[in-house]
Amino acid sequence: MKLEVQGLTKRFGGIVALDDVSFDVEEGQILGLIGPNGAGKTTVFNCISRFYHPEGGSITFGGIDLLRLPPHAVIRTGIARTFQQAQLFPSMSVFENLMVGQHTREGGTSLGGLASLLLGWRVDQQPRRRVLEIIDFLDLGGQRDMPAGALPFGIQKRVDLARALVSNPRLILLDEPAGGLSHEELQSLTKLILDIRDQLNVTVLLVEHHMELVMGVSNRVCVLDFGRKIAEGTPQQVRDDPNVIEAYLGVQDAEA
Ligand code: ATP
Repeated sequence: MKLEVQGLTKRFGGIVALDDVSFDVEEGQILGLIGPNGAGKTTVFNCISRFYHPEGGSITFGGIDLLRLPPHAVIRTGIARTFQQAQLFPSMSVFENLMVGQHTREGGTSLGGLASLLLGWRVDQQPRRRVLEIIDFLDLGGQRDMPAGALPFGIQKRVDLARALVSNPRLILLDEPAGGLSHEELQSLTKLILDIRDQLNVTVLLVEHHMELVMGVSNRVCVLDFGRKIAEGTPQQVRDDPNVIEAYLGVQDAEA
């Protein structure tokens, strides 16, 4: 199933966060979505997962028009996502977090999800066998019964990834998975992202600032700058593109 983003435009007051952005993610591929701070990467994710409604453009997944769906229905099309800050129930064990699975962020906080759990609102309970498979796949057996909130940052991110994978997605949106990880954790993340594509057959859209990671795992890379797409191609093509070099050098100049 292919993700097709066409002419996506999103404004916040006077700010044009996305300006006519188009790209495809082919089934079975990893597309890296990069760009300097504020380029619009997270806004793309938030439009795909329906937290934001764009003013223009279309997003289809396997031919299904996502913009016609409410947020909680997106996961049923086979799309899951991770967050920059892991979205977990801190007092629940890793296993319990995964049994609850992917919860939409309606209400904006995990508390909303917890309330829905306690009040018995609709929660998609995951099959136990799938949860155990994913715990094994992500090597989380040692942390299985520990409260998620007590785990180190890098492991919490891994549990968040597991939470997204238990829903058996066809496409996963990874939002800065490398952020805050140690050197060793980065090495295993690189292999993990490739395994997600090659062993679980999940298509990946990856937003990440860590260039070595993006260039190392992506089949193609799409570059945003100030809400516009400025380049797209193989990692090598993008690395050599003068517009991309200028966008990133501009950032370095500004920070110098
Ligand atoms: P970063 O790498 O820093 O996470 P990004 O590429 O993900 O940046 P976005 O977070 O998508 O960029 O932001 C794009 C633009 O939209 C920025 O100018 C940002 O300030 C603005 N923006 C994003 N979300 C909102 C919002 N909810 N309200 C107002 N402005 C927003």
